[in-house]
Amino acid sequence: MNSFIISVFDFILPRFCVSCKCALNTEEKIVCSSCCINIKLAGNKLIESEYVRNFHKDKIISGFQSLYIFEKDKELQQIIHALKYNKRFLIGIFLGNLMGKFLEPKIRLWNIDCIVPVPLHKIKMLERGYNQSYFIAKGLSHHLKIPVKISVIKRIRYTQTQTALTKKERQSNIQDAFAIASPKQISGKVILLVDDVITTGATVTECGRELLKSEAKKVYAASAGLAE
Ligand SMILES: [Zn+2]
Repeated sequence: MNSFIISVFDFILPRFCVSCKCALNTEEKIVCSSCCINIKLAGNKLIESEYVRNFHKDKIISGFQSLYIFEKDKELQQIIHALKYNKRFLIGIFLGNLMGKFLEPKIRLWNIDCIVPVPLHKIKMLERGYNQSYFIAKGLSHHLKIPVKISVIKRIRYTQTQTALTKKERQSNIQDAFAIASPKQISGKVILLVDDVITTGATVTECGRELLKSEAKKVYAASAGLAE
């Protein structure tokens, strides 16, 4: 859409930043530029140390990338909250596109065949109406031109929210929560799992375990946020 039409729309129906609620200007989408600047990017050193801490020992996730650092009560938390709980699923596309833009050189090295969003349990899907990670995966897919596959893995166990759990508790909470629905689509494939936020890596590790059991060649993980 050209900027004149956007400015006419903005005059009639202003759009607001999902984080600070200020009116967006014509060039801004979803989040205003000052909020965007405030969100810290996850640097290479942090990604490497988090890989060692969360994934190295299990040898399930071959590599991972996160775009931003997820900080409590900061901009990214407000953005992801709106994405998950306020039906603002286009935020997912926005974040996925940003992931593509900034992480593409690193993700390309993995030779990914397909992108798989971490699935929600069907009860949570009914409550929320959509899987936020699917929209992040779609945004990333649009940028990278790599297909998204949603029906290969499903969540078979309803799990309690992991926010207040330690790494050990998260691991046992998520154990056996996933099952492969379509082994044919996985066998021999390099898969990129996508989640909104990665904290201890327990969820993507458990998904990855099932994918490898169904003979996925390799499993990588990427998220919009990395919570320390
Ligand atoms: Zn803002």
